[in-house]
Amino acid sequence: MESHKFKKKYGQNFLRDETILDRIINESNILEDSLVIEIGPGDGALTNRLITKAKQVLAYEIDLELKETLEKRFNNKNVDFIFEDFLTRNIKDDIKKYNYKNIYVIANIPYYITTPIIEKLIDSKIDIKKIILMVQKEVGDRFSAKPGSRDYSSITVYLNYYYEIKKLFTVPRNCFYPVPNVDSAIISFEKKDSHLIEDEDKFFRFVKDSFRFKRKNLKNNLSNYDLKKVEEILNKHGMDLTVRAESISLDIFEEIYKNL
Ligand code: SAM
Repeated sequence: MESHKFKKKYGQNFLRDETILDRIINESNILEDSLVIEIGPGDGALTNRLITKAKQVLAYEIDLELKETLEKRFNNKNVDFIFEDFLTRNIKDDIKKYNYKNIYVIANIPYYITTPIIEKLIDSKIDIKKIILMVQKEVGDRFSAKPGSRDYSSITVYLNYYYEIKKLFTVPRNCFYPVPNVDSAIISFEKKDSHLIEDEDKFFRFVKDSFRFKRKNLKNNLSNYDLKKVEEILNKHGMDLTVRAESISLDIFEEIYKNL
């Protein structure tokens, strides 16, 4: 395998640390009769652990040069590979043929498509029990940031609307081969039960507008909205229009939006 030509364009940094691999599996807590989706199995370091816990693994790998290695290594095992770009697949169709109780996504993903992968999972409307992803550390900080912190942004609000997000642990860059320029973190996303907003796209547009200019307050960023109604809710929470979006929790964003 060390003869493999690692491709930067596919974000190929393979995990080479047994302890980290074990920790990912332990944190995943995969229940029995589960289907696990993996994006980017590489040479199968994580796949090899996933097959011991899952009823079935479905792994998407874009690099055809890994086909032979993966098929040889996992011959007759409970894993199917799709050698295509994950982003172009219809996941709902791909998983139709399997019987399972729960579905998980567990992956050390290519970082250049972190957000598109998560958006695709959300848009697929598949009832995923838990998503565990290795992401760039700074990106993980943004996903799991709390209101008032520097990393809190519209993507934080967007993801937290759907999921309970936790940063589980960090992974130093020297756990990978080739060694990347960044450290990583393992993040878990657990689905929240109910969503009470009908037009979610409109809600997320409102959240994005609130964050439009980072240094500006809501009075400036939301000048196209009914500021009186925005203020009404802010006042209820001891704030006014001079507040910046980075201080507003998801609940308050929802409350303001519903009052508009
Ligand atoms: N899971 C392996 C590990 O932990 O060692 C490899 C992780 S590596 C960071 C990311 C993997 O995703 C690579 O094998 C790469 O070829 C694959 N990949 C990149 N873009 C992809 C895409 N659009 N669809 C599917 N796989 C992709």
